[in-house]
Amino acid sequence: MSAENEVLAGVLAGDMRAVARACRMVDERWPGHLELLAALFSRSRGSWWIGITGAPGVGKSTLTSRLVQHLRAQDQRVAVVAVDPSSPFSGGALLGDRIRMQAHWADPEVFIRSLATRGALGGLSRTTADVARVLSAWGAEVVLIETVGVGQDELEVMQVAHTTLVIQAPGAGDDLQAAKAGLLECADVFVVNKADLPGADSAAQHLRGMLALTGVTGGSGPGALAGHGAAARPSTMSEASNEGWEVPVLSCVAQRDEGIAELLGALRQHFSWLSTSATGQARRVERSRRELVALLRERLSAVLVERQESQIAQLAERVSRGELDPYAAVQTLLGSAGLV
Ligand code: GDP
Repeated sequence: MSAENEVLAGVLAGDMRAVARACRMVDERWPGHLELLAALFSRSRGSWWIGITGAPGVGKSTLTSRLVQHLRAQDQRVAVVAVDPSSPFSGGALLGDRIRMQAHWADPEVFIRSLATRGALGGLSRTTADVARVLSAWGAEVVLIETVGVGQDELEVMQVAHTTLVIQAPGAGDDLQAAKAGLLECADVFVVNKADLPGADSAAQHLRGMLALTGVTGGSGPGALAGHGAAARPSTMSEASNEGWEVPVLSCVAQRDEGIAELLGALRQHFSWLSTSATGQARRVERSRRELVALLRERLSAVLVERQESQIAQLAERVSRGELDPYAAVQTLLGSAGLV
């Protein structure tokens, strides 16, 4: 049996070691990873991917761990993908896993995986989606994708998820940070964590105000008045359109397990809205379109680089001597591939 078939059989049989190996294959883009992903695809459908983001220190890890606990209490199999692009050492990320998720480490129905690499050509969001797909095929009904919401990369990772939860905490600057990072537009649900601390109510109010200002009306609950303001979302975020969904702003105390059941309820409502509404249908198509474009980009450049290796080497020499500029060189390469 080939290595990928062995891994495939292991994943389908629920073998955790095979799952870990499959994640690595995919993360590091080993030969055969695309065949593996293709074979796993049909088994991965139907799983719910929740993106969890927020500035460092707001309580992402604590809250993620609580969500795992609640999902397990509902007898769901859960996977966590902790995306930490700031850490260049996967060893460090693994250590992070243990600290974060101590309570769940021994549970055979929970799989935790860190992604510290930026992936090969496909980028971080590509690898995240593929790892989440492996975990879904293993049988994770819910995949929690936790990331630090600071840069463009992270925003893209959030777009991989069906439902994005943005966490805030009372304290100066958090709300501004959300606006800056474009997190306001990508949130499907907001939660103000650390509601035991002073300023939580005003943080939630402030957030609702900001959502209203940007046309993404924040309500006090997911069931409240659908449709208002959402249509006015900036067109740049149309791929994450929430038309017909009122972004709720909830609060919780992750540390004391307060408000988590309500939060999970709101997240579930978003997922069921996605699967029943026309906007949700459009979002699914848009996700698939983005995925195809990303895969095409990755494959196309890999194929071209491989095929044109010797011509690239020749052109590189000319570029290095200053006889040719790199832009013209690439144009030449595209030309000889018959693409321009
Ligand atoms: P992350 O950096 O966003 O993953 O945040 P962590 O989950 O590591 O939490 C940062 C700090 O906030 C830790 O010291 C937590 O114990 C604390 N924390 C988490 N949730 C709460 C909460 O609900 N209330 C308070 N007061 N502290 C919390």
